[in-house]
Formats: sequence, structure tokens, C-alpha cells
Amino acid sequence: MNHRLKDTDRCVMCGLCLPHCPTYGLSRQEGDSPRGRISLMQGLASGRLQADDKVTGHLDGCLECRSCESVCPSGVPFGRLMDEARALLREQRPDRPELPGIARPMLRGDATGRFMAGLLHTGQRLGLPGALGHLPGVSGKASARALALLPRQATPTAPRGTHTPAGESLGTVQLFIGCTGNAFEGRSLAAARDLLLALGYRVEVPRAQGCCGALDLHAGKPEAARRLAAGNLAAFGASDVPVISLNSGCRTQLREYEALIPEGAALAGRVRDLYGFLMEHEERLFGEQGLIRPMPPESRTMRVAVHLPCTLRNVLREQGAMLALLRRVPGLEVVELEGNERCCGAAGAHMFTHPETADALLSPKIEAVRRQAPEAIITANIGCSLHFQAGLRRAGLEVPVMTPAEWLVSQWQVSSG
Ligand code: SF4
Ligand code: SF4
Repeated sequence: MNHRLKDTDRCVMCGLCLPHCPTYGLSRQEGDSPRGRISLMQGLASGRLQADDKVTGHLDGCLECRSCESVCPSGVPFGRLMDEARALLREQRPDRPELPGIARPMLRGDATGRFMAGLLHTGQRLGLPGALGHLPGVSGKASARALALLPRQATPTAPRGTHTPAGESLGTVQLFIGCTGNAFEGRSLAAARDLLLALGYRVEVPRAQGCCGALDLHAGKPEAARRLAAGNLAAFGASDVPVISLNSGCRTQLREYEALIPEGAALAGRVRDLYGFLMEHEERLFGEQGLIRPMPPESRTMRVAVHLPCTLRNVLREQGAMLALLRRVPGLEVVELEGNERCCGAAGAHMFTHPETADALLSPKIEAVRRQAPEAIITANIGCSLHFQAGLRRAGLEVPVMTPAEWLVSQWQVSSG
């Protein structure tokens, strides 16, 4: 038995996780269930099974949504085991498919990634996402899929450097951007910075930060993930300053840095959820003289539907703060999007690599949007957001998808404290 997969022994094969597994729900095959995947991992670890197409397909098909982990009575650490299994698969099959060429560089926080993001932004501004498909190395089905997932609205560059509040400073916070955030979430990150500045915090956005490493870890490349973690440790430095992260996917990875590198615990302990942090200032934001006020006309009630990403529900369990914050906003009716207990199919790189499964899982959620007819979808993960935006476009539904921070800053008046 490969010692890295030893914890598969904790599975008692009870099957309680099966009804909670989205991929098993679609295919009804044991190999696409958590229990079946654990058996395959045990076969691989003992050498009884080889990493053939069938075994690889079942293990690669896992969304790492960790629904199974959240309900398992035996405490099977499924997410960690799946990462280990994928690393083992990659050792046995180094030829495994990668992300499409166009998606790889833009999902990095490095210079090439920033260049690609700039190129994509230019394409967006010119309204030419289709023309990007003619760039060298950007062709084929996988790249067409990646291009279809690009947001159609131009995205401003993510903020960098140090930002100081107008009045007295309450303290300093640092902002984590992430690779996808760098490419597609400039507006939302600027909104987060503005909310923190309005409260009176000095906001540092370290320039040298990069991807959290989740995409590499889930693709069976722990060494690459470790390098990214070490880079982020250096970028955020050694201090007690809170590191605010908007995206639940990145935040999950940052909080689990200790499992990647021992020194990672120090940074993991500083990572905070933006909405939990803001709710510590609830009175200042929403009290009688609060900083957030409805824009005129004040009488209109807006209705938003909240999509809860898997990492937020199953791992971080921080959805309460986001929902509580939205429910404090005057003139806002907050409903949960139907089917929130199931993954939307974005699942990191899954929406690129497994388009059929990703779209099959998204489909009932798009129907829920049609039924619930919200004015916006609110979510806390950029991958889910891009996947939803593409699905809504295909369905001909014009519903914006935003983070709570972006929604607040775009629809309400935020004054400085
Ligand atoms: S992973 Fe947990 S819930 Fe699923 S079969 Fe094993 S012990 Fe049961
Ligand atoms: S992580 Fe999600 S998709 Fe993977 S086995 Fe568990 S429940 Fe199924």
C-alpha cells in the first residue's frame, strides 16, 4: 500500500456519501462514486490496478467538491486522498491531458499570465472573443471551450500596491488576488478594497503574489503547488496582518497550506473571509449612520439569488457570514438559488476538461434561475461565476453574476468612515 493513500482504510464502505455525490448522481456507476473511487485508489496504491483509461477516467471525473467528505461518518479526508491519487496517476501517466493552451497561462499570477490577461482584456474591450480563437496555439475544441467561458464584459486590471484610507487608519489588511481573480475579477477586488478603505483599513495588495496552487494540486502536481505556496509565503511576509481572500476556492487552498509545506501554517492562520471580516463591523456598515446606503430611489426592493460554492459549504462552512451580510443590506431580498446543495460543475479546471459533466450539473441551476427570476446571481467563487455566466449566455438569460462586494459597491452608496 502506498503510504500516502493509507487513510483510504478509514472508509467502511457504508455508502452514506453516495446520494451526495454529483457525479454518481449523473452516471449511477460505482466507479463515479466516492466509495468506488476509494476502492480504485486502494487498487492503485497496492499495485492491483494500473492507471489505465478506465481507472484514470473515474478518478479524473471527481469534482473534488468534497460533499462526500462533509457527510462521511468515518472522517475520510477525501479531498486530500484525491490529490494524492492524482499525483500517483501522474507518476504512472505523465501524458495525462492538461488544461487547454489558452487557459494555462491566464491561470497564473506570473508575467506571462498577466500578459495573457491583458490580451484577453483587449479582446473583450474590442468585443472580439471569437477573433482570439485565431491566435497561434489557440485552436481546437478545448480552446474553443476556454474562449466560450470568457466573460463578455471587459474586466479592469486587479488593484496592486498600497491603498490608504481617507481618515484615521484602523489597521492594515492584505488582499489576496489569485490567478483567475487577476485575469477576471478586477472589479470585484477593487470593490473589496473600497469597502475595506471605507471602514478605515489600509489595504496592501502584494505585487509578487500568485496562484494559490489549487489547480496544480488537483491536477496531481504537488511540487508545482508547493512552489506557488512558497512564493505566496514570501509575498505576504511574516506578520499578523490579516490576509483577506474573496474566493472560497483560493481560501480553502490557502487555509490548507500547512499540508503542502510546514511553514504554510503561519499564512493559513491569517487568512480571512472578506464577508466575515466586514460583519465584524456590522453596525458601522449597516447601522443608523451606516456607511452603506441605498441609492435613490430608495423605495425599490431588489431580489438576488445566492449560489453557494462547494468549497464555501463543504470545507470552509463560511456561507453564514456572506448570507448574513447580504440580509443586512437595506432594500435587498435574498433568496438561495435552488439546488445549492449540489456542485454547479465548474470545479476548478473541470469546466474546461469535462465540459459535458460540467454543463449537465449547471443545467438545473440555469432552470432554477429561470424560475426564481432574480435580478442578479451572487456567488463567492470566480470559477462558478465564469461557468454561470457562460451557461446564462447560452440560455439567453441576461442576469449578471457578481460577488457580494461587487454587487454592494455597484448598487449602493458606500461612504468613507
Ligand atoms: S467515504 Fe465515508 S460515507 Fe462514503 S462509503 Fe466511505 S465511510 Fe461511508
Ligand atoms: S468529491 Fe464530490 S464528485 Fe468527488 S467523489 Fe466526493 S462527492 Fe463525488
